[in-house]
Amino acid sequence: MTDNRLAKMPISNWGGLGFKCRCGNLHEINVKEFVIQQGACDHTAHFAKKMGKTMHLVFEQKVFEKTKDKVVKKFGKIFDVTTSIIKEQNLFSIEQCEQIFAQAKEQTKVIVCVGGYNACQYGKYASQKLGVQWIFINVLPDCDDVATNYCTLWKNKVKQILPGKSPDVVLCDTALAYDFCLDDLQTAFAVVLQNGLFAFDRVFANKVQNAKNCDVANYLLATSVKNAINLAKKPFSKNTVSELFACQYLISVAKCLSVANQNNFAGIHAFTNALQSKYPHYTFGQVVCVANDVLSKIYAQVVENNCLLTIDKDRFLHETLALKKFGVQVNPVFNFETNDKAFEQNVEFFKQNLALIAKINNLCKSMIKQSISWQSKVAFDCLQLCTDIYPFNGLLRYANDKGYFDKQND
Ligand SMILES: [Zn+2]
Repeated sequence: MTDNRLAKMPISNWGGLGFKCRCGNLHEINVKEFVIQQGACDHTAHFAKKMGKTMHLVFEQKVFEKTKDKVVKKFGKIFDVTTSIIKEQNLFSIEQCEQIFAQAKEQTKVIVCVGGYNACQYGKYASQKLGVQWIFINVLPDCDDVATNYCTLWKNKVKQILPGKSPDVVLCDTALAYDFCLDDLQTAFAVVLQNGLFAFDRVFANKVQNAKNCDVANYLLATSVKNAINLAKKPFSKNTVSELFACQYLISVAKCLSVANQNNFAGIHAFTNALQSKYPHYTFGQVVCVANDVLSKIYAQVVENNCLLTIDKDRFLHETLALKKFGVQVNPVFNFETNDKAFEQNVEFFKQNLALIAKINNLCKSMIKQSISWQSKVAFDCLQLCTDIYPFNGLLRYANDKGYFDKQND
């Protein structure tokens, strides 16, 4: 199949797919089924009974009341179920995962997690540890890494990437998800839209820093962001819910295809993580909106060769400091060769893309109900904090190499 055909496939076709890609990698999607439909959670028993009878059923607290009866409705007497709750938590940690893990029976053969991002991280973490299959019933629209084989959890205020196992089956019940989407539409969109900047960085690294990445993954990222922009312009409907989850799953597939960034948070994701740890009371959507706004302004300054920020030049890619301060192993995967000529040749193209990203920012901002005023100093502190821990790639790495961050602020 050609790259183009692959990239245009609906999400349901990606389940269990394996193929040799033009990027040189053999890609495999470990999620066997992606089901997005009304009443999808009715299929849980059908899939679960093939996996085992001893079940650990885990709910995120905020979905428990609304989903508990529906999830178990068709279970009959097949399963021996232990139920646990993930407490409402913005910085879901390894420690909390361990506490929930301790509640599971030793002979657990199947894990079913209900919720969004946190439920997904738990499922990946626990199924990897136990070596069992698991089902993700996705009703919260805040997760863009479902298909990846790692999980991200907090430890000492640092978000870490750990080994994890992607779900065997993903069931998005649109009837249930509809209400939850309405509650936090902004997060639902932000999860997708933040990848606009991420895609920009990948293209930049590809053109200027000679980084190799997968064209199919890039296409999936760009298409998902474009689809979400179009969706945001239309009135909210049941169709919006299906489309938004499809966008989030396609982004997770793109992440699964792109090996380059698998061991590190980079760019906007790193920045968002740093903001989350500093301002845990804000919703993810609000944090992403701010990160988009601040970072894209920095990007524009760099592209215009007019960088007014000051930052220690050694802040980027300093594995020793990250290890000493936070006990985090940061891998220097970005050994790119910068090509100045390529930068000059593409500068107009980058400017056009940043203009597009400015439009995305406005879209994000228009979805925020309460306005948050972030002073540039606060944003800058956060940038410093995240460069303590996470290496940057793409444009920020370039700016650092060029010494733009060494210039003095007046
Ligand atoms: Zn590829």
